[in-house]
Amino acid sequence: MTRNHDLAPETLAAQALGFVDPEHKSLVPPVHYATTYERVPGGIGPAGGPGFSYSRNDNPSYTQVESLIQRLEGGEDALVLASGMSAVTAPFMALAPGDHVVVQNVMYWGIRRWLLTFATRWGLDVEFVEAEDLDALRAAMRPGKTRLVWVETPANPLWGIVDLAAAAEIAHAAGARLAVDSTVATPVLTRPLEHGADLVMHSATKFLNGHSDVLAGALVTARKDEWWERIEQVRRDFGTVMGPHEAWLLLRGMRTLHIRVRKACENAMAVAEAMARHPKVSHVLYPGLPEHPGHAIAARQMQGGFSGILSIRVAGGEAAALAAMRRMTVWHSATSLGGTESLAEHRASTEGPGTPVPDDLIRLAVGIEHAQDLIDDLTQALDG
Ligand SMILES: *Cc1c(COP(=O)(O)O)cnc(C)c1O
Repeated sequence: MTRNHDLAPETLAAQALGFVDPEHKSLVPPVHYATTYERVPGGIGPAGGPGFSYSRNDNPSYTQVESLIQRLEGGEDALVLASGMSAVTAPFMALAPGDHVVVQNVMYWGIRRWLLTFATRWGLDVEFVEAEDLDALRAAMRPGKTRLVWVETPANPLWGIVDLAAAAEIAHAAGARLAVDSTVATPVLTRPLEHGADLVMHSATKFLNGHSDVLAGALVTARKDEWWERIEQVRRDFGTVMGPHEAWLLLRGMRTLHIRVRKACENAMAVAEAMARHPKVSHVLYPGLPEHPGHAIAARQMQGGFSGILSIRVAGGEAAALAAMRRMTVWHSATSLGGTESLAEHRASTEGPGTPVPDDLIRLAVGIEHAQDLIDDLTQALDG
């Protein structure tokens, strides 16, 4: 008999860990809507003891999808949360005011905005650094004072690549932990814990769920330590739990994770290569292209593809970029990424004043359609 822990990740995902409902033998789990669970008759004691007690602590629908995410990332434990942002904020809130944190400069803007507004007011000492530059990262560390290094790779929306093994070494040498926003890479392409990271975060809204119909976040820890306990406490006490129905949908979406990510990677590479040849495109930002500054590290750190998202810069500037977007018919003009459908976004106007994103940049979140339809539509839109 094959043991479950010998199985390949795509087998584990496709079968949702091989779960069979013990009562009715259903191959699809039920949704556990209950908020409360019976204790041993007459039982007293705190909520959060053995077994389930109350759904702000835990619920069988969360633990099922958590087990799958934990297995795919190779961690010791996992948590699902209400959104990617609640998975971002929990590890920071599990630190203490006065702690120094070093954070990548160009990354998902919502995190940067939260750090600059709420987190600094709450008392975190936040320092932004070009984490792709290891010397700059090393120079930002304050041994004994820096508690956390936060990076994203590939990083929105320029797709900078951080060398995770080197970043982990730098963080650990200063007594800090490394947390990685791996939303774009997914466990299909990179498993940050294997490179020495301490925590992996996902906006499961994106590739993990994959159908643009669930808002979800996930965290996976390398070890269950006291920081992890505080993170669990933040989810419980802030109530940033995922609904059981969302957890069920996420598990359903994740059954096709591997084929979706592989197809999106293939499509993105084809789109990147076609855009690199287009005369009206001045730059193609995609770590899969040899000319991308992070290509060599990405080729080492990512297995089987470079993710399904890239950016292009339009030679005619902002007006030409916006005009091209208006002519697109197959690509939908919308934010987000990791769904089955391809999306284009003028990122500078989404992020607003103060953004580091050039105004001639279009972010392309590639779906799983036929690559030629995507390329033809972009080509006609750029040609005008
Ligand atoms: C979308 C996203 C987030 C935020 O996640 P939500 O699910 O929207 O809260 C964080 N990081 C990255 C890289 C993202 O793409």
